[in-house]
Amino acid sequence: MSDVLSRLKKLTKCLHIYLAETPGRGFGIFAARAFAQGSTLVVDEDGDYYAGEMTLAEAQARGYDLSQDLFQIGTDAFLLPNANLDDFVNHSCDPNTGLRLTPAGYRMIALRAIAQGDELTYDYSTYISGTPERMSCACGAANCRGTIGAFETLPPALQDRYLAAGVVGRFVAAAARNAAIQDAARAESGAGVRAGGEAVSA
Ligand SMILES: [Zn+2]
Repeated sequence: MSDVLSRLKKLTKCLHIYLAETPGRGFGIFAARAFAQGSTLVVDEDGDYYAGEMTLAEAQARGYDLSQDLFQIGTDAFLLPNANLDDFVNHSCDPNTGLRLTPAGYRMIALRAIAQGDELTYDYSTYISGTPERMSCACGAANCRGTIGAFETLPPALQDRYLAAGVVGRFVAAAARNAAIQDAARAESGAGVRAGGEAVSA
């Protein structure tokens, strides 16, 4: 009960959103007014957001499930449901918001114009990287992927869009950067071999 109360206390600080039931998906978070694309809907920088951070091994030793219970915030750093708003935000493969973690907490950013009464969603894959986490998805979006997996499994154009909007975990963005560097290096060494081959045949 105290857990529920602490969650509600947190929510009352967010003036422009509300918690309500969503058909078939438990609770969700909704916009109480319109928001322009790029605007910030929620700022939660109370400083308690990272309390209880733990490694995957620690979480699993305590009986928590990677896909069901944990929110990834670092390469091997996870949060349990922690009385924050993001515990209630549902996933969509075509989300209208994104989360941006900050040193003191997080912000929720509108990825497109949002009307009063719209359910707020974000793409869970923007905070999953380097783990075998997989959830099935039936979000109903036209571009629904059917599964929610690691960021690196998303189409490259979608990855670029989230990265450009700054709504991807820093550990996720770093992994994506490393992958891009490795791809470039591979392409370069491939080109080097070809160039060498041409030089010999010339
Ligand atoms: Zn989906």
